[in-house]
Amino acid sequence: MKIHDLVVIGSGPAGYTAALYAARARLAPVVFTGIESGGQLMYTNEVENYPGFPKGILGPQLMADLRTQAERFGADVQDLHVTAVDFSQRPFKLWTHLPPGADANVFKSGSAEEIGQIVKQVKQAEPDVLAKAVIVTTGATALTLKVPGEEKLIGRGVSTCAVCDAPFYKDKVVFVVGGGDSAMEDSLALTKFSSQVTIIHRREQFRASKIMAERVLKNEKISVLWHSNLLEIMGDQSVTGVKVDENGTVKEYPAQGLFYAIGHRPVTDIFQGQLELDQGYIITSQSITQPGVEQAGKVFGDNGMIPYPTQTSVPGVFAGGDVVDVRYRQAVTAAGQGCSAALDAERWLENNQ
Ligand code: NAP
Repeated sequence: MKIHDLVVIGSGPAGYTAALYAARARLAPVVFTGIESGGQLMYTNEVENYPGFPKGILGPQLMADLRTQAERFGADVQDLHVTAVDFSQRPFKLWTHLPPGADANVFKSGSAEEIGQIVKQVKQAEPDVLAKAVIVTTGATALTLKVPGEEKLIGRGVSTCAVCDAPFYKDKVVFVVGGGDSAMEDSLALTKFSSQVTIIHRREQFRASKIMAERVLKNEKISVLWHSNLLEIMGDQSVTGVKVDENGTVKEYPAQGLFYAIGHRPVTDIFQGQLELDQGYIITSQSITQPGVEQAGKVFGDNGMIPYPTQTSVPGVFAGGDVVDVRYRQAVTAAGQGCSAALDAERWLENNQ
């Protein structure tokens, strides 16, 4: 079976940028897009903060353009989902098929146990792909509550990224679900545009840092519904209101926007036991968490530099974008990390042929 120089797993801004750089380095990368080619930006309407587009660009258009750009230089983009990997030996083994009768959607909405079962079954067959190096850019999924109305209104008033979408809510009434730092940050960002921001939080106390919580509670534009749970998002073409269980009483409020800020889940189920993870995020030598700093310390070179900052716990496997990023999670930071991962992979391949 042919051994590819480089496989990229994932097709968000990080994956396509990695593919673009690797293709221009003549590594003929194979990109596996996953079930939903294009990642989180496929659910975004207008992207106004990606540099180079002064008039903004539609999320799906940006992703289609990134794909075309990578393909132009020879990236082989395949609309397949990687269902299992074995990084214990080189060349690395990857599987892209499903066991008979299995549904690919299990990778989207199944539990870690269900996915683990599929991975086990898949690995009983011979691998579908062999690679000398791999870049993982599988991203993260913003958690949502899957309440009625959500699916139809996502991108039409329901958002998981206030930093991206706040300017679209000028003089509008919006709600934010969550009580962590993201919910605080999102609510404060929204006050710059929206006329009124209401936080829906399930407890009587924020999880967020004190300083952020204080800023929120002091802000006159923000109010909080404590002990409250979102029940439904109302609207047909766009959000018109929310239904909330407020301390046991069901109430309806008019609203034009609903922002989820209840956390993210990195997409790493198939890497369990293969790569070192921290709360689900892949650890690289540039992760900002304690395990990342420890890993960086272990690989610090004689020249006072880390040789491959985007390398994971397995030499030859690199990662970038939201799957490693606990802090920034922006399309442009993901693209930058994809570029770094490709440059690291290229140099690693040169030194390890
Ligand atoms: P987080 O700290 O895990 O907070 C998630 C919030 O969502 C919690 O308040 C939680 O409620 C709520 N929540 C979770 N599941 C829910 C459900 N099913 N229904 C209703 N509410 C639910 O997540 P995050 O705010 O995204 O932050 C993630 C990490 O990034 C944290 O370490 C945070 O400090 C960091 N961060 C830092 C900054 C900053 O420093 N500027 C900004 C953003 C994020 P409970 O409180 O009841 O559990």
